[in-house]
Amino acid sequence: MAFTEFRPLDEKLLIDYIKATPFLSSKLGNKFDDLTIKEVGDGNLNFVFIVFNSSGSFVIKQALPYVRCIGESWPMTKERAYFEALALKEHGRFCPEHTPEVYHFDRTMSLIGMRYIEPPHIILRKGLIAGIEYPLLAEHISDYMANTLFFTSLIFRTTTEHKRDVAEFCGNVELCRLTEQVVFSDPYKISQYNRWTAPYLDRDAEAVREDNLLKLEVAELKSKFCERAQALIHGDLHTGSVMVTRESTQVIDPEFAFYGPMGFDIGAFLGNLMLAFFAQDGHSDQVNDRKAYKEWILKAIEDCWNLFHDRFIKLWDEHRKGPGKAYLPSNYNNAEVLLLAKKRYMADLFHDTLGFGSAKMISNARKRASCERRAPDFAKMIL
Ligand code: ADP
Ligand code: MG
Repeated sequence: MAFTEFRPLDEKLLIDYIKATPFLSSKLGNKFDDLTIKEVGDGNLNFVFIVFNSSGSFVIKQALPYVRCIGESWPMTKERAYFEALALKEHGRFCPEHTPEVYHFDRTMSLIGMRYIEPPHIILRKGLIAGIEYPLLAEHISDYMANTLFFTSLIFRTTTEHKRDVAEFCGNVELCRLTEQVVFSDPYKISQYNRWTAPYLDRDAEAVREDNLLKLEVAELKSKFCERAQALIHGDLHTGSVMVTRESTQVIDPEFAFYGPMGFDIGAFLGNLMLAFFAQDGHSDQVNDRKAYKEWILKAIEDCWNLFHDRFIKLWDEHRKGPGKAYLPSNYNNAEVLLLAKKRYMADLFHDTLGFGSAKMISNARKRASCERRAPDFAKMIL
């Protein structure tokens, strides 16, 4: 069967598709009698099928021309699959340890075939709710962020490469607009898609809508999000986009990727850990008060930034004489100016990280009322 135009997959069609795609068939040893296919329905936007048999496995992710969790009433370009595949490949080049390998991409079908991140990997958000400590998480995520952000920034790249890639990812405008709306616009006005714990947080939601100073800070962040093509960012780096075991950390789902401010990724991740911190009181019980776990989360937040900082600076030192056009060795030619440049860059990045992290926290706080209130209050204080 030929797949020359877009068709939404079901299990039967997926089997036909795999049979018609030699690379995918070969991953299964060209055997179809012991095949298992599972659709994992916890995604918000897309369809994800896990496919395996005794010879091998992969995941098929297909974008449909609407937002899955809302339905056909919210159209959304299926071209997002193209940008997700592109970002996975690009980030995979710079950080293969923490990015699932892409086996196959079909633009017509808006379909990605990639490595199945096998159990016992679970979504980090679920691990945080269960109170599981991940000793290598901070190290792995900071490594991922430093590599993907550094190698796609002008510190490492030429302006020619940078402009070409920025232009390409400008095509992901619809997904960027979704972020603009849900992170920087909707929380500050009455909007049909806003969710909070009514009626307990009605007053808090109203206070956010009436806070002029907050709106000014958010306006600056929004323009930075839209205008600053600093690096190829994941664009949705929350704890639902990370799969973990104690030994392994895999970052999935970069369909919001584009050239944007680095602090948006770092802030998204740290802001989500802060939300997880505030949510712990809602998970504590007689057996476990979660006190030690809260300490671990705080330590992870601190480690993430510090390790990221050191790793990014190390990459900068290693590639100081590389092709990058931002800090030419001819001009940044002494230890003092280099140190000052790095200090300023990292200070600005830290500032962005706190700002974007807070904006994400305000737009994300949906847990139980008491934790929910403390998270946006804290975020407002930072902003
Ligand atoms: P969406 O963009 O719709 O949110 P995700 O990429 O987040 O979709 O995937 C939805 C779910 O499918 C994830 O939470 C995860 O449980 C599972 N999943 C996605 N990609 C993989 C993968 N490569 N390996 C294993 N599970 C995956
Ligand atoms: Mg997604």
